[in-house]
Amino acid sequence: MSVNSVKGEVDVQRLPTDAEEYSYCGWLFKYTKSHILHSLCTTSEQCKTHPESQCLLCLFTNCLNLPHLPEMVFPRNILTIIHPNGGKIEFNTLDALKKVCNGKLSLQVACSQEWQESRSSEHLEQKIKPFDWTFSTDYRGTLSQDAVVQSTEGKIDIEMLKRKDKILFYHEMMLYEDELHDNGISSCTIKIRVMPSSFFILHRFFLRVDGVMVRVNDTRVFHDFTKDFIIREYTNKECGVKEINLPLTVFGDPNILSQHMPLRTSITEKITFPKQ
Ligand SMILES: [Zn+2]
Repeated sequence: MSVNSVKGEVDVQRLPTDAEEYSYCGWLFKYTKSHILHSLCTTSEQCKTHPESQCLLCLFTNCLNLPHLPEMVFPRNILTIIHPNGGKIEFNTLDALKKVCNGKLSLQVACSQEWQESRSSEHLEQKIKPFDWTFSTDYRGTLSQDAVVQSTEGKIDIEMLKRKDKILFYHEMMLYEDELHDNGISSCTIKIRVMPSSFFILHRFFLRVDGVMVRVNDTRVFHDFTKDFIIREYTNKECGVKEINLPLTVFGDPNILSQHMPLRTSITEKITFPKQ
């Protein structure tokens, strides 16, 4: 079951879903955006007996099986790109959170182990059932089944992106955020811009554990409308706070910060959607 098929919640809360579509060169770009995930299920009996129509909170809780969700989750914030051949690239909150490590303490969090161990009883439960309490994700988007993904030596055409082209369509939104009990920030955001000659998407996971470490996991999706492929580039950058000699104010700005962080992983792929 997808997020789109969940019924009921918006009717109950009577809150509008913001949505916009834009088509260009045979492509369709669209987003939906709505309120934050509520923290209480008001229809728990019905959600149990009729899982097909469960509320969004129950859907997220049941699908993810995390000890708790981030403080702010935007369940209906979804960016969708439809290829002229019908293939789809989507970025949605549920799939981003599915990539959060559950059930085992991975190497990813080893760097912040010291901080975690210094914490009081509120995190005892998490030690017993460890999970990645930083909500780190290496999500690269959700592709339709007809997508063909190949590794490539090709790169995103930075020069094209640097040009001051007209922006035909632009949107940015948050998928989720957590302030780590006032000990930093964990956030997952998405933005897109469509220009006359190309489009560009940036999905960014940003983590700062105050005084300990920073991490930026970026997925960039780029397409030159004169080409028959899409480039997807995933990068992981992370380091200890002490390794970065910059003023504290910069630590709130992943744009500046990431330029000073060491690159740990880089995966570049070519995505095509063959004619059916
Ligand atoms: Zn429910």
